[in-house]
Amino acid sequence: MISFLNLKKINATQRDELQVACMRVIDSGWYISGKELASFEEAFASYCETQYCVGVANGLDALILVLRAWKELGLLADGDEVIVPSNTYIASVLAVSENGLVPVLVEPDDASFNLSPSAIEKAITEKTKVILVVHLYGRLAEMESIVEIANRHNLLVLEDSAQSHGASVNGKKAGNWGDASGFSFYPGKNLGALGDAGAITTNDERLANTLRALRNYGSHEKYKNIYQGLNSRLDELQAAVLSVKLKTLDENNYARKCIAQRYLAGINNNELILPDSGGTGQHVWHLFVIRTQFRDEFSAHLKSKGVETRRLQELSATRSLN
Ligand SMILES: *Cc1c(COP(=O)(O)O)cnc(C)c1O
Repeated sequence: MISFLNLKKINATQRDELQVACMRVIDSGWYISGKELASFEEAFASYCETQYCVGVANGLDALILVLRAWKELGLLADGDEVIVPSNTYIASVLAVSENGLVPVLVEPDDASFNLSPSAIEKAITEKTKVILVVHLYGRLAEMESIVEIANRHNLLVLEDSAQSHGASVNGKKAGNWGDASGFSFYPGKNLGALGDAGAITTNDERLANTLRALRNYGSHEKYKNIYQGLNSRLDELQAAVLSVKLKTLDENNYARKCIAQRYLAGINNNELILPDSGGTGQHVWHLFVIRTQFRDEFSAHLKSKGVETRRLQELSATRSLN
């Protein structure tokens, strides 16, 4: 059986290095907010070419905390509208509603599966304050135009980069386009921990500082709690694992790209709509998503040949075929 994602096999390629990293943490006697976190944050900021990286407990918290921080900094208030793609994973929408903000769901572009600049522009109202762009399946949204729209309307841009570690357009990576970006390191993501983990990247020092307090009970200094914060820390063990896995992210993304190119070149069937190859940008192929009217039959056919598949949303699978 060709499994959908064989994490055991992927992690086995770095087994020895992961073991060394885990033993180092176990032997250090220090498990939360220490050297491993600081070193991973520095490495990931440098990878994304951003000034700051703030590790948190998971990808959902990364998004929740950015919006929370913007509220604390007086940039957002209850009832403000946030534009979100309707086909995103539920976490993007929950981060908005969790903060007392209003998610405005916008239909994606059929070819890229991402928000198009024109659809965003149509959804902007007087209450819009944030564009939450999700780089779905490993492909960056049209960030140049989206950032231009945001500047023109005085809106904040939050990237949800949970599916696009290392994706880029014109050499600029996911996580470095918006005012801030949330990442998930859930085990199945392109950069995955051995458990839950997440991070925020930004070039805004004030935001980074606020986030460092918010993830730690609202406190910079022990027992001085200046915000109503959360316990959302990226622990030392996961940080150490992520530092090891970050080293092979580019090579793993390249392997994904080679597989995707093989599929794109080799699959030729009128009943299947293949994904767009990603234009000029570097697509990191978190998922290879096809659309077809015969989804269940096709999936059963592949299963009979020993190939595992997963289902995504019904809507984006059928809409343009109607
Ligand atoms: C995985 C994912 C998240 C949430 O990440 P967790 O670490 O599971 O909380 C958010 N947004 C998108 C688009 C995702 O794919």
